[in-house]
Amino acid sequence: MRRIDFSHVRNAFMVIFRPFLAGRKPPYRKRNPVDSSPISPIIPRDQHSVSRRNISKNALNVLYRLHEAGFRACLVGGGVRDVLLGREPKDFDIATDATPEQIRKLFRNCRLIGRRFRLAHILYGKEVIEVATFRASGDDMPGRAADDSGRLLRDNVYGSLEDDVQRRDFTVNALYYDIADFSVIDHVGGMRDLRDGVLRLLGDPETRYREDPVRMLRAARFAAKLGFRLHEDTERPIAELAPLLEGIPPARLFDECLKLFHTGHGEASLHELRRLDLLRWLLPPVDEALALTRDEGAALHFIETALANTDRRVAEDLPLSSAFLYAALLWPVAVLRAQLLDHEGQPPSVVLQQAGDEALRLLQQRVALPRHLQLLTREIWEMQPRFSLHQGRGVASLHGHPRFRAAYDFLLLRAQSGERQAAEDAVWWKAFVEASPGDQHAVFSPSGEGELKRRRTPRRRKPRGEGPAAHGE
Ligand code: ATP
Ligand code: MG
Repeated sequence: MRRIDFSHVRNAFMVIFRPFLAGRKPPYRKRNPVDSSPISPIIPRDQHSVSRRNISKNALNVLYRLHEAGFRACLVGGGVRDVLLGREPKDFDIATDATPEQIRKLFRNCRLIGRRFRLAHILYGKEVIEVATFRASGDDMPGRAADDSGRLLRDNVYGSLEDDVQRRDFTVNALYYDIADFSVIDHVGGMRDLRDGVLRLLGDPETRYREDPVRMLRAARFAAKLGFRLHEDTERPIAELAPLLEGIPPARLFDECLKLFHTGHGEASLHELRRLDLLRWLLPPVDEALALTRDEGAALHFIETALANTDRRVAEDLPLSSAFLYAALLWPVAVLRAQLLDHEGQPPSVVLQQAGDEALRLLQQRVALPRHLQLLTREIWEMQPRFSLHQGRGVASLHGHPRFRAAYDFLLLRAQSGERQAAEDAVWWKAFVEASPGDQHAVFSPSGEGELKRRRTPRRRKPRGEGPAAHGE
């Protein structure tokens, strides 16, 4: 049976009487905790721009079903923030006073996840609506646990909406859109910070970063994504606390990297991470390579070009490859390692392979790249020297490789960012890729001499093993 608590009575009261009370003084006119100016936490429907038209059908469905079952249900976080900024939200998060178990009973398509934060995921095909129960902060509560550095290990103490506000990260992420009356609830001056383009951490910044050091990365990410500036109190502790990122599980940092670099503002994220000196703790080998590479500008330019290309693909809704991202981020590391390795007369492709393995090993210490992505990243690198081959069967086997497209795009990236050999190879391969199958076939032949000209009767291909060995193989 469902727990009936005071909050439902209060909520029902609010739904009925809020329109009459909206203009009154306390409790509906609170003081802004930041600058003590009087503010009303409730912004009625006709005074804000969040419309149901901008919210996904599935998120609305979840909100309505919770509301009809007698629970409080609000859209919160990026869904409200981005709609208020006139942007399209990446996903929709919902906060409610229903417990995870109660949520599960209402939705057949529900999966409960997480230990640190117990959450419900409501699944609609590819779209996942995340529903979290209001949580209370407050130390020494059973269900809430921190380690010696103050990092929160568990946070499963449920509370009211007012409690829930305080555990959010930034003021602009602590705005609630209440499905009961379509108002926006702002207890922390989030609307003002949204208008001013400011990211301000709630509470004491140092404590909040210690509770969860990933908030430092989130600060960099939102600054990059929204073009906001960090409030000075929010920015100040980062320099000292950045090393706490060493304690974050590599799997979580992998997720954060995707959000930083794969959601349309990767280049800006890189700049923000470097400005705050967070790259050193998130991707130490990349930061080191940028500092040690003889021509630092070239290495940076390479990664920037890759991220700018990725940002363009996100804007055009084209598919993305995480392997390509990591191949690009780690390329300056691999190149630097290759220079440092003792060559002992080994062919460049072997040296590059060893250097690439080393780069991946260094990355794994901080960011857990799943195994299949490691393999794909390696493949993209290992195919690079083979692009210097412009004739014979090696061309055919490279062109027919299942990962040709990714490796070829990587070659174009190297060319675009000024690598000379890559630029020459790219000109040849571009002509080849764009040539007709007949012209391409001419090149496959060992006597094709690398010319892209049409043959009327294609030559019989020589049996395996007789053609010239592909470069670097
Ligand atoms: P986006 O989805 O565009 O990346 P978002 O703000 O929705 O941005 P989510 O990671 O989806 O970010 O989280 C949803 C909300 O949950 C946030 O807006 C914030 O209120 C809260 N939140 C998420 N992570 C944290 C955290 N580490 N500390 C405090 N609050 C958090
Ligand atoms: Mg979100």
